[in-house]
Amino acid sequence: MSILSADYVKQGILVRTLTKGDIDKDSYISTYRGNLICSTLGCEAKLVFSSGRTKHFKTWQRSDHSANCIHRFERIKTGTGVDRSQVANVTASEERIQQSLKNAYFDSTLTNEEKEKLKKGSQ
Ligand SMILES: [Zn+2]
Repeated sequence: MSILSADYVKQGILVRTLTKGDIDKDSYISTYRGNLICSTLGCEAKLVFSSGRTKHFKTWQRSDHSANCIHRFERIKTGTGVDRSQVANVTASEERIQQSLKNAYFDSTLTNEEKEKLKKGSQ
């Protein structure tokens, strides 16, 4: 769900609610930047305006919507949809497998003297 409107606030006071038609790149930079929040009642997530082929508001990266805001789920979907901890675990174990295969290879093909040389060389 895209964010269609944003509240323009100044010193904590709502000035007006903006829609995409009320804002452009220039007015955003001169006036609204840093002063836009989610227009859902009770939600104060910071918003940024993106001017491009399609103008839109989006959630500022380091700001979250309140628990019952309709825009809250957007972040979960587009942001951290991939469980990074799982990915990291898989990568780590693959590396470990590669390493033990390499060790096994060295054990079977090299003399002790050669292994020592390789160890020193790689340090
Ligand atoms: Zn919100």
